[in-house]
Amino acid sequence: MAAKAFKALILGPPGGGKGTLSKRLVRDFGFKHFSAGDALRAEISAGSALGQKAKDYIAQGALVPDELVTDLVLGQLATLRNEPRWLLDGFPRHMAQAVALDAKHEVDLVLDLDIPEAEILSRLGGRRVHVASGRSYHVEWNPPKKEGIDDETGEPLVTRPDDTAEAITRRLQQYHDLAKPLVDHYAKSGRDVQTFAGTESDVIYPVMKEHVAKVLHVRDIAALARGMVSELGC
Ligand code: AMP
Repeated sequence: MAAKAFKALILGPPGGGKGTLSKRLVRDFGFKHFSAGDALRAEISAGSALGQKAKDYIAQGALVPDELVTDLVLGQLATLRNEPRWLLDGFPRHMAQAVALDAKHEVDLVLDLDIPEAEILSRLGGRRVHVASGRSYHVEWNPPKKEGIDDETGEPLVTRPDDTAEAITRRLQQYHDLAKPLVDHYAKSGRDVQTFAGTESDVIYPVMKEHVAKVLHVRDIAALARGMVSELGC
């Protein structure tokens, strides 16, 4: 029988670096990464009925209703049952989603990002993306070689509709109102919850990496010990 998957969540404000940090966790620990925002954007690009319904909410920086997003996420997580470890990004965003997730999955680890609001406003306001590939630039810190143009394809870059000043303000407000109680929820239910504060992913990541390595190692040792006990028939 396959070992139970190790299930991690990354929580944090929009523009807090969840995507960047997730990529590094995937590289270093082989997590299968699943992002609710990416899944919704894929539905929009595919022109599906769900994408059509979700589109305007995303463009306005509003949360997509649970009846659209929860089944999409839980359905895709169900396909990861043979993965040794997965990392969920952008879900749950509030308590009702956490309850739906808890009903299907026991979360092992919660990585929570605490990023100052001024940093987020500057990051998101300057972000430009190449829609087809998901490549992301920043007008100041990571500009494309030619302004407004993707380095690899020569196609135009766009500002995500939910990166306008109005939408950013709405998304941050929502985050503070709804997502913070999630951290308390997971801590109270005995999950390993760790908050990482800072302004730079390059500084946050080494600390996060050390923590994840420790948690995974401890779990491997526990699983090994359980295996030995059952082999001995105890
Ligand atoms: P993200 O890429 O995580 O910043 O998500 C982009 C947008 O997708 C959000 O602003 C929401 O409109 C929508 N979205 C992503 N995840 C969720 C979720 N768990 N619940 C509702 N809406 C979501």
